[in-house]
Amino acid sequence: MDELLSIGDFSDRCGLSAKMLRSYAAAGLLVPAAVDGSSGYRYYSTGQLHRARIIALLRRAGIAVDQIAMFFGNPDTVQLDCWDREIVSESTARRQALAQARAALALAQAPPPAQPKASMKGAEVTYAYVTGTATHIGGRDTNQDAVLVSDDLLAVADGLGGLQRGEVASRLALDTLDAAFAADRSISGLLTAGREANRAVWRQANGQDATMGTTLAALALTSDGAAVVLHVGDSRLYRFRAGRLEQLTHDHTVIADLIRAGELSEEDAHTHPYRHVLTRAIGVVPEVDIDYAGVSCEPDDRLLLCTDGLFNALTPDELNIVLASDAEPQKSADQLVTSAVECDAEDNVTVVIIDVH
Ligand code: MG
Repeated sequence: MDELLSIGDFSDRCGLSAKMLRSYAAAGLLVPAAVDGSSGYRYYSTGQLHRARIIALLRRAGIAVDQIAMFFGNPDTVQLDCWDREIVSESTARRQALAQARAALALAQAPPPAQPKASMKGAEVTYAYVTGTATHIGGRDTNQDAVLVSDDLLAVADGLGGLQRGEVASRLALDTLDAAFAADRSISGLLTAGREANRAVWRQANGQDATMGTTLAALALTSDGAAVVLHVGDSRLYRFRAGRLEQLTHDHTVIADLIRAGELSEEDAHTHPYRHVLTRAIGVVPEVDIDYAGVSCEPDDRLLLCTDGLFNALTPDELNIVLASDAEPQKSADQLVTSAVECDAEDNVTVVIIDVH
């Protein structure tokens, strides 16, 4: 026979407060095993600890009491999977709202732009900009990088997969992104376009029964009037401002996670066996988590989109030297790629430079 515990002892052992236990008893979710008729004291059996701990965990996951009560009518893990999906969906929606708030904040903080030479027009602000792009096969047999310079949308992608699959994936991702963004130039439209790009590559890979994927780093001027970066993988966006280079995207790689966790130094990362392993890529799962954020732009900022072939071949100091020159963006883009190739770039190298005026 199970031992009986006072409500205080039971509370200590299951992690639910006495107040919670009383309310769950009232709801019929966890009824005391015995109640002293004269004192009214409640007693729970040790056999009820298992249920109580599950209740505590489900409450911590944010599940409502009435839903938990129904769950115990048919305690199936299928229901846990269902709640898991709901939590991911809600979290995604909240992250989207935060990113939109970030983009709106960046817009509010951006100074009025100078008179445009060429311009990208958002609803509330006009950024004047000039671009330059360059790509090189580097030390590979094929160039699986792709680049996009379209209306209010600039992007690079670094294809993954054997044979020509990486090449197909990177081009398909950028073409899909471009077409979908053209149809809806809002911030949410940009995110939808990113998801479309992921699905297009995923469908293509499944159709060929092959593994293929691509990184994606894109900078867009949305109809909401914000400059927004969207990225998956280890292609990067940098901002060069007042002589200082700042990486604005966080790589989705095993080593980036280890560095962020303080388990690996930047120096050791260069030789780590998993340095090329991505934790996220476009096209390898049906739904991918896409990072996006507002980008603060000011006149004289120089933005750089690039694939990993560039920053694996050149040090930040070497990038700085080229970006600091007054050369036109096309000349600087060519210079970056040439410098990477001269440093024996093992990988494809692709860059887009955007000078804000
Ligand atoms: Mg690469």
